[in-house]
Amino acid sequence: MIPFVDLKTQYASIKPEVDAAIQRTLDTCLFTLGTEVAEFEKEFATYSEAAFGVGVNTGTSALHLGLLSAGIGPGDEVITSPFTFVATVAAIYYTGATPVLVDIDPATYTIDPARIEAAITPATKAIIPIHLYGQPADMDPILAIARKHGLMVLEDACQAHGAEYKGKRVGAIGDMAAFSFYPGKNLGAYGEGGMLTTDNAGHNRAVRMLRDWGAERRYHHELKGYNYRLEGLQGSVLRVKLRYLDLWTERRRAMAARYDAMFAGTGLPTPFVRDDVRHVYHIYAVRTPDRARWQEALTAQGIQSSIHYPIPVHLLPAYADLGYRQGQFPHAEKAAAEVLSLPMFPELTEQQQDMVVAAVTKLQASV
Ligand SMILES: *Cc1c(COP(=O)(O)O)cnc(C)c1O
Repeated sequence: MIPFVDLKTQYASIKPEVDAAIQRTLDTCLFTLGTEVAEFEKEFATYSEAAFGVGVNTGTSALHLGLLSAGIGPGDEVITSPFTFVATVAAIYYTGATPVLVDIDPATYTIDPARIEAAITPATKAIIPIHLYGQPADMDPILAIARKHGLMVLEDACQAHGAEYKGKRVGAIGDMAAFSFYPGKNLGAYGEGGMLTTDNAGHNRAVRMLRDWGAERRYHHELKGYNYRLEGLQGSVLRVKLRYLDLWTERRRAMAARYDAMFAGTGLPTPFVRDDVRHVYHIYAVRTPDRARWQEALTAQGIQSSIHYPIPVHLLPAYADLGYRQGQFPHAEKAAAEVLSLPMFPELTEQQQDMVVAAVTKLQASV
């Protein structure tokens, strides 16, 4: 069996350090926030080249509080793209604002900057570019549009820990960035976790208060806040894992390069990577119009695959109230119909990868 991700092998490779970190938290009994979380916030902010990091319970909460800290609420509009995990759009809804969708660049799957201005109205307050699959969105034109129209930019960096755009890490390229530490992400907690990073002291202070009931001093609530705190155990585990992240990312990049090289000449569409980014390959997705049959054949050979994402947000029943129709975002719809994510994790062996490549190459030859 070749798994899609393999968290057990990774845990085995760092078990003594992780176990010691968990024991340390158990000994201090600092189960929510606390010193491990505070240290992790500093370390991850530094890693992401941001001045501040605020640990929260999920990436979704980081998106939600990032928007709230910019004063976004009912009557406002927030622009993002429909080819994403549902959380990006859900977080906009949580604030009471209206999500406004813009199609993707069909090559990179990230928001197409050339389509953003047509979606701006007097109610527009922010743009959320998604660094999908671990490749940064084209931030320069997005930031130029945002500056021109006075909009806030919140990066959805939930799949892009350590990714770089023109030599700068994602995290504070826009006004803020949201990261997820869901177990399967490139930096995964042993439970749930997230972080909001920013260079802006005001956003830092607001998110810091909002995650813990809107109070800087206990029981002195200045804002209507939330219980979105990051757990101490997660902070301690994430500190250990952060020390390995660059190693793991280089391994992902090497495996991606190896996939690319072995698929070259087969006619299989492999990931397009801009030459001014460092892609961190949370997902390695190829494309085929014959996806259902391919997945079935791979499963029969013990090879797990996945789809990120089979239905673009504007066609999900939950968001029918947005009023979008089939055909409105053709690039997102075509990608959703064709992308297929192959096994990609730092511990993937060359032997496992060879088997995936052999199976996929055979399927491609039969197209
Ligand atoms: C995982 C993810 C999120 C949400 O993160 P959670 O920690 O699961 O809440 C948001 N956006 C994208 C693009 C994601 O991949």
